[in-house]
Amino acid sequence: MKYQELVDVYEALESTTKRLEKTEIISNFLKELDSQTTEKVGLLILGVVFPAWSSEEIGIGAKLVERAVAEAVGTSQNAVEDAVRDEGDIGLACIKLYSKKAQMTFFSKALTIDFVFDSLRKLSKISGSRSTNRKIAIILELLSQASPTEAKYLTRTILEELRIGVGDGVVRDAIAQAYNIDKKVVERAQMLTNDFAVVARTAKDEGVNGLEKLNLTPGTPVKPMLAQLAPPLDEIIPEMGVAICETKYDGIRLQVHRNEDEIKIFTRRLENITHALPEIVELFDEFLPHENYIVEGEVIATRNGKPLSFQNILHRVRRKYNVEEAIENVPLKLYLFDVLFYKVPMIDEPLSIRRKILEDIVNTTSEEMNLSTMLVGTPENIDEIQALFEKSIKQNHEGIMIKNASEPYIPGLRGKKMLKYKAEPETLDMMVVGGTYGIGKRGDFVGSYLVALRDENDEFKTVAYAATGLDDATLEYLTVKMKELEISTKGREIIVEPKIVLEIAFSEIVESPEYEAGYSLRFPVVKNIRKDKGPMDVDSIERLISMYNEKN
Ligand code: AMP
Repeated sequence: MKYQELVDVYEALESTTKRLEKTEIISNFLKELDSQTTEKVGLLILGVVFPAWSSEEIGIGAKLVERAVAEAVGTSQNAVEDAVRDEGDIGLACIKLYSKKAQMTFFSKALTIDFVFDSLRKLSKISGSRSTNRKIAIILELLSQASPTEAKYLTRTILEELRIGVGDGVVRDAIAQAYNIDKKVVERAQMLTNDFAVVARTAKDEGVNGLEKLNLTPGTPVKPMLAQLAPPLDEIIPEMGVAICETKYDGIRLQVHRNEDEIKIFTRRLENITHALPEIVELFDEFLPHENYIVEGEVIATRNGKPLSFQNILHRVRRKYNVEEAIENVPLKLYLFDVLFYKVPMIDEPLSIRRKILEDIVNTTSEEMNLSTMLVGTPENIDEIQALFEKSIKQNHEGIMIKNASEPYIPGLRGKKMLKYKAEPETLDMMVVGGTYGIGKRGDFVGSYLVALRDENDEFKTVAYAATGLDDATLEYLTVKMKELEISTKGREIIVEPKIVLEIAFSEIVESPEYEAGYSLRFPVVKNIRKDKGPMDVDSIERLISMYNEKN
């Protein structure tokens, strides 16, 4: 099938923001495709050529693409750079540059989806000497045959920024609609395989039955189940009934797969880090059965038996060279806490059963291979849970995890089934640059505070609105201050001089285009007004980004 047909779909998708329309467009297109093309379009529609579980990537920088575009249209690289700057995007720059291209592509043969897909995959495989030239040659072969719109989406796909507003949810719905299958079935298949190529093709060829047969495969990483901040123990434990409460270790989460004789280690972002941790591979080989499995645990770095900071483990895992030396300097310890597959998939079993299986299969006679410390919590022994928490903190761990004992493992889910209960939430000192007045009888108070961090030029860049954690007296105090510092007010929004510093706790840092910093905070809570701090004491965006990178 011609690539131009997919490009027409991209154009249609880019021209609407309505989710239902997008779903309809993709679904109609899918119906026209044969099996093989369906598989490729399942990925290309998301602007990728590798499934989410794969750590392979196209890996081409903007400069290289600009060079190829310059050659394809017969202009200078500077001219391409200027066009990208003017248009704000390589794709739009291509439209502009290609329209000026003298002899258009009338003589060349049309690009096909197969050819584009295979060429893009080839790019990831090229390394070694003269690799730049070989990459350019492949990109050029595509670009010189491309129409202007084809070039627009080819370049964007190569740079992994398709910008058509299509995410996993829309593709899932479109597959469900195209083949008349329940969304839930498609969602489950996607969650287990992390591979829209497989899901789309199976849906087309085998329908519901085929999708239901898809399952976890040791060797292919699964998105981990995530944790949410816990409410107070006396609230959450009665709600759960029976909870498995475990020490929360401050390390890196590992998902370890054994498939026949091969052991692979993945991070929570599904990155394969097997090469950096040879001694962990050995531990698994020695202390777990030689069966196919997927287990999860936390690895921490230790010195003289004491846990070291998270930074130490991060360096160890990111290490590419001198791994042997690092093994000696930073000994690692494992604490396993879940099993997703053992001979057969286990994720539908309740956690209580999964934990038992884990206890059966892991030999914990060595110091390095452990199970997480745990107790079964019920409303009757909340004091024991509190004691586990305090003991964990004393031992330099982060706190405890509270997990519903009767729940299955749901990949990628962040919900109430798994909670974290930490000593102190992380905080940032942030500058108030504005706020929003409340509504109704709160209309006289600034109820929500726009907080910002310092960038490298010491300018404040907004990060979040914090609206919780303030009692009435503090709200009143802050509102008076805000009025004193008012620069302007429009509707309910007030902008103020940057003078008030708040200490903000939060559960997580997330990327967010809505705020100037490009990042935002989940669940920001005002902990304190830091009257002792001035603008230069405000935390930097650099710190925020480094905290974000540590956790991701
Ligand atoms: P957070 O990264 O703060 O959202 O907390 C969740 C993370 O805690 C998990 O992704 C694991 O990396 C880590 N963790 C440490 N100990 C445990 C445990 N016993 N059970 C589950 N996760 C744990």
